[in-house]
Amino acid sequence: MQQDTLIIPRYLVPVRPRGTVLEGHGVLLRADRIEAIVPPSALAEVADQATVVNLPSHALLPGLVNTHTHSPMTLLRGFADDLPLLEWLNGHIWPAENRLVDEDFVAAGTRLAICEMLRGGTTCFNENYFFPDEIARVAVESNVRSVVGLPLLDQATSWANEFDEYLQKGLELVDLFEDSGLVEFSLAPHAPYSVSDAGLESIADVSAAREMKVHLHCLETAYDLEHSLETYGLPPLNRLSSRDLLNDRLIAVHMTQLDQDDVAMLADCGVHVVHCPHSNLKLASGFCPTAALLESGVNVAIGTDGAASNNKLDMFEETRCAALLAKGVTGDATAVDAVAALDMMTINGARALGMDEVIGSIERGKKADLCAIDLDQAQTTPLHNLFSQLIYAASASQVSDTWVDGNRVLDSGRLTTLDETAVKEEALAWRVRIGESASHDQAAAQ
Ligand SMILES: [Zn+2]
Repeated sequence: MQQDTLIIPRYLVPVRPRGTVLEGHGVLLRADRIEAIVPPSALAEVADQATVVNLPSHALLPGLVNTHTHSPMTLLRGFADDLPLLEWLNGHIWPAENRLVDEDFVAAGTRLAICEMLRGGTTCFNENYFFPDEIARVAVESNVRSVVGLPLLDQATSWANEFDEYLQKGLELVDLFEDSGLVEFSLAPHAPYSVSDAGLESIADVSAAREMKVHLHCLETAYDLEHSLETYGLPPLNRLSSRDLLNDRLIAVHMTQLDQDDVAMLADCGVHVVHCPHSNLKLASGFCPTAALLESGVNVAIGTDGAASNNKLDMFEETRCAALLAKGVTGDATAVDAVAALDMMTINGARALGMDEVIGSIERGKKADLCAIDLDQAQTTPLHNLFSQLIYAASASQVSDTWVDGNRVLDSGRLTTLDETAVKEEALAWRVRIGESASHDQAAAQ
């Protein structure tokens, strides 16, 4: 039988109860679960029966939840920058994807993304990309938790030709991976503007029947609103509501075009919002009113979006940016304080995914998804307030250890489930193919 593990960090930040810091406590892991929070007085006795991991200058947190990303797009990191969203998508990203995306691209990009995420303390990611079968396979192999979106579009891509084929191929995966333990699936239409009313109705039916989450880009830019008004005669949120999609199974990503009535409607319906501040800033999309949403009781989580529009999958930077942006936009320095920001990168993400009973905090009985941050660095010294330090000063590079499902997938700075050198070499080979393909396209256009 596998021996228990006792982790003894300097500081334990369980996230629940909210605002708590425990000094000198241990966390006992048994197989894939958190067996106990061990008080200092009981450490010696418990240590006798367990493998002890001492982390004398570290804070131990629940694993971070990246609630919106497109992992394979790590291969397009820096490929087309400094462009507005629609020009970026229509002129660069989508043509490149049409030329290049296949199973190998998706597997290579996902492996690269997982290296970066595990190194930065992310233990669960909410994914939306083509070839979800490859993403799920690579995620399970790498021992990371994920909710993989089943792409649903009306347009043909290399994954499927039309809506019903997308849906059918996707739902087959739900059965295929049923026993994996680490992967769940959501329905992932790209955006309201790329799915017909009939498609939205199918999604609502399947979501209700199977209790599946719906992972959707929504109101990312002003275009979403204009397109919906022009095409359907009503705003996207009203259109989603008319198709029974505005409920607590909806994970709405971006949401930069909201007025007060929208915020109230989202709160009433229990919709979860994912804020991706770097992507919104980089593509000049607009601002998600996180402070107003949180104040109204809406659950707001953090996502990095894909590396083509960020360009990192770093939840520390993303959350810091979210906290700062909320203050800048509202003119209120108390908006989204450090404790609220820590919730957004952990338990709020878990809640959006319907997994807050399983992950998102360090509590007895939850899955052992954890990350340790070494605070013995110049940028996190001196320590006056741990929450401030974690949100405003710490960086992903300070994460020394990450556990997913009880497995130490980052062990003192070394990834244990991925051959990082091989993953980077594979990405470099793709860099050559992507470059050749882009120059071929340019030559053909001339
Ligand atoms: Zn996105």
